[in-house]
This record gives sequence, structure tokens and C-alpha cells, in this order.
Amino acid sequence: MFTMNIREWERAYREQARNLATKFFENLKNEKILGVRCKHCGKIYIPPFSVCSCGSKDLEEVFVSGEGYIETFTICFERMEGYPEPPFILALIRLDNSEVVFPHIVIGVDLSDINSAIRIVRVGARVRAVFKKERKGSLLDIEGFRLIE
Ligand SMILES: [Zn+2]
Repeated sequence: MFTMNIREWERAYREQARNLATKFFENLKNEKILGVRCKHCGKIYIPPFSVCSCGSKDLEEVFVSGEGYIETFTICFERMEGYPEPPFILALIRLDNSEVVFPHIVIGVDLSDINSAIRIVRVGARVRAVFKKERKGSLLDIEGFRLIE
């Protein structure tokens, strides 16, 4: 599951989480972010998985705010299909308290001066999900993650 490619990540996640993945993506259509909390140890998974790392399958569904932080990031200078015009920022996003990270785009940062941009975008910076107007039930229903001032 460690890939910075959003579509590859989604494909791997769908294969692994199956029905829960479908439910997660259906909720994204309604701008809702679904996770699960382990009733045994309290760990939270966003997006949701059916088994906790503690071995428990007793997980309850929770809706979360879509806020989290940048785990790591890279600035892409190459044109990639389905992504914004380069340069753009690709990051691993960890929503608050989640055991899971997933790749997504950081939006709203002026990249005309890369040096000043990387002083603003940093590991640990807080972000919030911004949804697209038209949503189809995929990770790309989120336009990107915007830095929270
Ligand atoms: Zn657990």
C-alpha cells in the first residue's frame, strides 16, 4: 500500500478492503469521510479496514472531519495523466488519529517560487480535504488537501 500514485493506491485499497472500500467511496460522493475505530484497542483507520492490527475484527464505523496532516511530500515537475499541471505537490496524508496514510495532492500553494513554497509546505503541516463539485465515488472526489492556517 506504499505508493504515491493515487490511482494505484485506490486500486490496491479496493482489492484489500472490498465492501468497506465501496462504502468509503460512496460516502465520499456525499462529502463524508468514513473511518473505523477498533472497539478492542481504539485504533482508527481512515479509510476503513475490516481487521485491526491488534487482530480484532470488532470495528465500529465513524465519520471524521477530513482534517489531518502531511506525513511526507514531494514536488512533481513531470506531467502525469489525471494530475494537475506541474509543478504540483504530492503528499502522503494522515487524517487525524488514523493508522492509515494515503497519497493525495496539496492544493492552494503558490509554486512559482519553490524555495518559499517548501517553507510553507512541511512535514506535519495541517491540512483539510476539499471536495470536487462533481463526485463519482473515488479518492479523486477530493480535489486535494488545503493547508489550514
Ligand atoms: Zn485493535
